Amino acid sequence: MAISNALLQKYASLIVRTGANVQPGQTVQLTLSVELHDFAALIIEECYRSGARKVNVDWTFDRQARLNYLYAPQEVLAKVLPWEEAKMKQMTEDLPCRIYIASEDPDAMNGIDPEKLSAVMRGRATVLKPYRNAIEGKHQWVIAAYPSEKWARKCFPDAPDAVDRLWDAVLRTVRVSEDGDPVEAWKAHTAFIEEKAAWLNAQGFSALHYKSKNGTDFTVDLIPGAKWEGAGAVNTVNGAFYIPNMPTEEIFTSPIAGKCEGTLVAVKPLSWNSQLIEDFSITFSNGRAVSCKAAKGQELLEKMIHMDDGAAMLGEVALVPKESPVNQCGFLFYETLFDENACCHCALGMGFKEVLPGGDDMTMEQAREKGINDSIIHVDFMVGADDLSIDGVRPDGSLVPVFRNGTWA
Ligand code: ZN
Repeated sequence: MAISNALLQKYASLIVRTGANVQPGQTVQLTLSVELHDFAALIIEECYRSGARKVNVDWTFDRQARLNYLYAPQEVLAKVLPWEEAKMKQMTEDLPCRIYIASEDPDAMNGIDPEKLSAVMRGRATVLKPYRNAIEGKHQWVIAAYPSEKWARKCFPDAPDAVDRLWDAVLRTVRVSEDGDPVEAWKAHTAFIEEKAAWLNAQGFSALHYKSKNGTDFTVDLIPGAKWEGAGAVNTVNGAFYIPNMPTEEIFTSPIAGKCEGTLVAVKPLSWNSQLIEDFSITFSNGRAVSCKAAKGQELLEKMIHMDDGAAMLGEVALVPKESPVNQCGFLFYETLFDENACCHCALGMGFKEVLPGGDDMTMEQAREKGINDSIIHVDFMVGADDLSIDGVRPDGSLVPVFRNGTWA
């Protein structure tokens, strides 16, 4: 493999120190594939050098997950065992810093019954969600990526150097290079995103209107006083600034659940539960997805929208200019961490209560009353066409251009 140890070390350090921002005395929960033991060792050591008290590793293995789905019964897979629940409960007390490394084969679940996949996911998420809600906003976390062979082959099927090419793209999007200083690059990047978010917050838009030649014609109402956020977040318990996604290019907020109208046309395929949905559109009425059309993955898309009551409503709208380094790479990553940072997107399902003033201290019930959507899913889909126009609607009805031709107006 062509990537040098020096670059890998730089990347591991960026993930631990700038992304997760591991604090002295903290416990770290690292989740990554068993195939990445060398990289795991780099991350673990970097955590300890940053003062971590203990690093625990959750090893994942997508081929095992696939075999489970092929051979084990649905009700067995959907059941959360007492020790798994105890582990989540422990996490609500320890509030570990969590680091996830994404490397999965996008086709890992090809051919698995979508009904089984969604039923298992629904069963497990229903039990685990209260614990996830309990730690939200109170711990640092980061997701970054490590190109696996199968993932790279999916992106570049015919290239003998597929892995190298995916590494090039990943490192470019996270601003890591041989001679550059990624820490400085991230400082400048987060400052730019914060400036744009501040502008949006000053506008106080009550709605956004989306329009594109591809058929997108959509209006969504925003929650009065809800903040636009981007790049970084702050752990409300210890005040540590962390960057949950590397890469990240988006500025996002949660709209009012149940208040949008019109059609959004996706501009990129969507990978959900390791299966693909392609060439699709979703039409909303009274804030709910009432119909959807997909050239591929129709059944999967319908399953997704019907996962629970909130799955048909929006939890996120995000602005990403088409010049984003992810989009410049010019290929589909088959991984939301990257693809959602290529262009403007919306997400069905769970919203972010932290965008509300005082939202971190609210229960989910309180946040729901303010308009934040609640669901076991959160699925981003890309709507940022090259000609996309977005107008902000001020409370007095006047319009302000926000995006023109897929980028900041
Ligand atoms: Zn997003």
